[in-house]
Amino acid sequence: MKKYKHLLFDLDHTLWDYDRNAFESLSDLYHQFDLKSLGIPSADDFFSTFKRENGALWKLHNVNLIDKAGIRANRFPNIFKAYEIDVRAVPCDLEQAFNQLTPAKQHLLPGAVEILDYLKSSYALHIITNGFEDTQYTKLTASGISNYFDVVVTSESSGFTKPDRRIFDFTLKQLKAKPTECLMIGDNADTDILGAINAAIDQVWFNPHHGVTQTKPTYMINMLKDLKDIL
Ligand SMILES: [Mg+2]
Repeated sequence: MKKYKHLLFDLDHTLWDYDRNAFESLSDLYHQFDLKSLGIPSADDFFSTFKRENGALWKLHNVNLIDKAGIRANRFPNIFKAYEIDVRAVPCDLEQAFNQLTPAKQHLLPGAVEILDYLKSSYALHIITNGFEDTQYTKLTASGISNYFDVVVTSESSGFTKPDRRIFDFTLKQLKAKPTECLMIGDNADTDILGAINAAIDQVWFNPHHGVTQTKPTYMINMLKDLKDIL
């Protein structure tokens, strides 16, 4: 007998290829705003620094130490500080341009559409994301996968951020489902996996970069297609 009814997918870095999409838009912006002339050596370097500084702010967001506005107000100034460039040189419309350009990018992780096609007839598929309403819906639509999902819960719509179990409780209530009927699939051990454990929901840790964690996920996969071995 099939164990799960509802599959709860994370979006960024699990289905939607955040790094590839962000790299494309940051490269465009690097040239558009002539960031070389301000002292940022290359688009690749700009992307690496973005990943580090943006990632640090998202870690603070995931433990409720900074909100959406805080991320958006600080990430490019923090990047400039990292290069020891005066933050007053940050182009005033850089953040807005990034937020317009990036969510409209279409790249998904390898095998994403194939696995959603495989799963859709046997399971109800949903999204639980710590992203924001405006950007996450744009990503789902632009990448052509919005129709696979019945319910989309964001940290903004629920008021809670993974790993807080209340974002999962909020979702279960919408689905009228028990924790044992659900399976969480996500790339972040500290948010997706720990959060689902907090909510007594089984989890699949999608771990394409072969990371390590103290958290003990129910299952671990390195490629999305490996979900076929579980589901
Ligand atoms: Mg993720």
